[in-house]
Amino acid sequence: MTRVNPDDGTSTPAPGPSAGAPRTQPSHGAPVPPGAPRVLISGASVAGPALAYWLCRYGFRVTVVERAPALRAGGQAVDLRGPALDVAARTGVLDLLREHATGVRGMSVLDRDGNETQRTTDATATGGRLDRDDLEVLRDDLSRILVDAGGQDVEYLFDDSIARIEECPGHVRVGFAGGAERTFDIVVGADGVHSHTRSLVFGPEHRYLRRLGGCVGVWTAPNFLGLDRWQIAYETGDDDAWGALVTSVRKNTELRVHVGLNRLEGELPRAREDRKRLLAERYADAGWELPRLLSHMWEAPDFHCDIGAQIHLRSWSRGRVVLLGDAAYCGSPASGQGSSMALVGAYVLAGALRAAPGDPRAAFDAYERELRGWVTANQALAERHMDGAGVDDHFYSVVDGFTVRDH
Ligand SMILES: Cc1cc2nc3c(=O)[nH]c(=O)nc-3n(C[C@H](O)[C@H](O)[C@H](O)COP(=O)(O)OP(=O)(O)OC[C@H]3O[C@@H](n4cnc5c(N)ncnc54)[C@H](O)[C@@H]3O)c2cc1C
Repeated sequence: MTRVNPDDGTSTPAPGPSAGAPRTQPSHGAPVPPGAPRVLISGASVAGPALAYWLCRYGFRVTVVERAPALRAGGQAVDLRGPALDVAARTGVLDLLREHATGVRGMSVLDRDGNETQRTTDATATGGRLDRDDLEVLRDDLSRILVDAGGQDVEYLFDDSIARIEECPGHVRVGFAGGAERTFDIVVGADGVHSHTRSLVFGPEHRYLRRLGGCVGVWTAPNFLGLDRWQIAYETGDDDAWGALVTSVRKNTELRVHVGLNRLEGELPRAREDRKRLLAERYADAGWELPRLLSHMWEAPDFHCDIGAQIHLRSWSRGRVVLLGDAAYCGSPASGQGSSMALVGAYVLAGALRAAPGDPRAAFDAYERELRGWVTANQALAERHMDGAGVDDHFYSVVDGFTVRDH
């Protein structure tokens, strides 16, 4: 993983969880030919690094630009199911992901006073049924593993982002916020539900974003509850500030705390500290251990809070720019399928570009033709979930309803 100085072409190790780790050889051997198509991907979470891996493998020259100064920490455990497990296996990371799986064994439901009202080892609120092969892994572990899989062939530019995109005949001219200007054959927006690439090329977010209720805050706390690979669903009984999901992760050394609001008056505050204040105020009367969990929120370096929302676009591409993952078809945390859709989408888009490397229009059409039906069905799971449906047979028939093809 390198950071290239666009002014003089020198490179230094990029900051990130693996920065400085010795790497003896690039992951896929052969050097990338100088004439290979150049792809810029915006966003280094799940969709971006997954696409970078496949495009590098197919001989493209890949640059990923990430706004954060390093790979971002945080996020709940995310789930890989059905076709996403197939893609993870083809990417060569499935075993490593299984080593990092949360391994949660079951869950307890607590009432407002902290009394256990239910205990099960059949399913958890975040992971679904435990008798399946599904994989639950922290979002930041998944991201780091995908970045590492890409090896040194992928150029990462941290602490920067796309400021301008100008489509020219046969290429795209990109101006970076850091001042550099470069030319690419294709630009991919994998920069999440609030995608800046989408705003630049497709227009303002409000045209594509569909709100689904309130917001979710996630952060890390020490495992002072002594949970052993266990999840607690604390239910306040309040329709709005409904409670928390607390899960022991990273070999029980940490808790990931997930607190939600079903309703928001107006917009979510922009500043991170104001978002914390909002959650603290709305949960000021909560019982059990929530006050202590909230006290850890103030110092948590990985606090993340966002609205529940989906993205719907008529087309995921325009000219030589294409969207991927949450930027194109966010399902919201309520779908439980965001990372699976990102991983499968990355594989499908890479395969389509490989089949038509000089014809982005044909590649983007093929990508959308293959993926759209499945992601639309997955997005519909979120509304079903919010109407009270659990992870039932219908849920699994949808998430498993995509067959990964060889490219
Ligand atoms: C910190 C974090 C925590 C999350 N927590 C949860 C969670 O608890 N539950 C859940 O269901 N989903 C969560 N998500 C979303 C989840 O990761 C996605 O739904 C899913 O994995 C698809 O990923 P994605 O790569 O398409 O988008 P995302 O995971 O949203 O990644 C987008 C990436 O683009 C980067 N980015 C944003 N703007 C720019 C820009 N202008 N220029 C360059 N880079 C930019 C972001 O920093 C991020 O790294 C979280 C995402 C992040 C980034």
